Amino acid sequence: MGDRPISTIFSVGTELTEGTILNTHFRFLGAELKGLGFFTRKAVQIPDDPDIFREELREALRASGLVIVTGGLGPTSDDLTRETIAEVCAAPLRFDQAIWDDLVQRYAARGRSIAQTNRKQAQIPSGFSVLNNRVGSAPGFCGVDGACTVMALPGPPAELEEMFLREALPLLQTRFFSSRGAAVEMVATAIMIPESVLEQALQEARGSDAAPRWSTRVAEDRIVWTLRGSPRRRQRRVYSALLKRFGPLRIREGDVQPSFLPYRILSQRRETVAVAESCTGGLISKLLTDIPGSSRVLWGTFVTYSNESKIRLLGVPGEMLQGAGAVSQEVVSAMSQGLLEHTPADLALAVTGIAGPEGGSREKPVGTVWISARYRRGAHLCQRFHFPGNREAVRRRTAVAAFILAECALLGTDGQLEY
Ligand code: ATP
Repeated sequence: MGDRPISTIFSVGTELTEGTILNTHFRFLGAELKGLGFFTRKAVQIPDDPDIFREELREALRASGLVIVTGGLGPTSDDLTRETIAEVCAAPLRFDQAIWDDLVQRYAARGRSIAQTNRKQAQIPSGFSVLNNRVGSAPGFCGVDGACTVMALPGPPAELEEMFLREALPLLQTRFFSSRGAAVEMVATAIMIPESVLEQALQEARGSDAAPRWSTRVAEDRIVWTLRGSPRRRQRRVYSALLKRFGPLRIREGDVQPSFLPYRILSQRRETVAVAESCTGGLISKLLTDIPGSSRVLWGTFVTYSNESKIRLLGVPGEMLQGAGAVSQEVVSAMSQGLLEHTPADLALAVTGIAGPEGGSREKPVGTVWISARYRRGAHLCQRFHFPGNREAVRRRTAVAAFILAECALLGTDGQLEY
């Protein structure tokens, strides 16, 4: 615990305590607060019950420098967060006309009229300031009770995370850490590195120093980590150690989405990609088309799941499929070659593999995947992988590895991706 400021996190909602939904806020806020330098003494789930909430809140205000409450900011009668904070902090609710005008405008922009019950969302405890909600409707708020900073953030995870990163975090840095130089931070991304391995590597890179600290955000296809709390030079030293250990394909500066790697280059060059997917069943194209503007880059996709579709649509020789098998270097190369022959795309990306749980053998166990990235005017990279995990994990890792190999083929760099 040391000299770290103490925080308490509350998540309010009977749906949490009854197990209807899984609490994801603790993971996000816990990691962010740790990265900032807080010691979180408790993370508590509270049902929609004002008596229990009041009691817990009073105790937390006495014991912490920061209390964060998530959820219960909606317009309905079981949303108790603002009333309870107002009562316990002796800060009566005040109606904020600016919040109300903003809510009315947002509803109108969507062609809807706002119900009077929503007026509740324009009330905040007096003396508290507003935390803007750019994703949803309910604003959050932040104030002080004695020596404790109190923050209320919305329940929906996308709203909570955006509001915390954009509104709350700078405020906490200034309020709790400005004299310690924590405002400098560095964001980086780890791709295809398990969380525990990354954590261990960060610890080793930092050595016995107390800083920098880090928080990690685990997305489906990457881990984004933020280094804080030390001069920039020390943060760069930790970053460089990871870069050296895992290589430039898997460690990137900034928050980097793997699908964006080939997209960015293709888009700059005004070129296109055609994809042939077997074990991923369309996931690569799904991730590419999640990027707005992807129609300029994705020529199209063949989901060639059966042998026959590989023969008919891509021209893979039947004897090759019989001889080498569908999951082989020969077949994946023929798939990408077929793409270049059958489409005008500049880049061909093909994958074939065994996602499981069935279909594995001794020579080709579940998780065996071949990926081929063939640039019309350049490199052809072809690599075999053996991915751990269940069907979903194998498919996701395949898509991520395909994006990295595609980037390498486009850049003409060595695409040996360790895994
Ligand atoms: P709203 O105006 O949407 O009601 P709110 O701030 O009142 O916002 P809640 O009603 O508490 O938020 O929760 C809204 C939804 O957000 C929940 O139904 C749930 O899907 C999600 N949610 C809330 N809290 C959590 C949590 N701790 N972990 C994961 N999801 C949550």
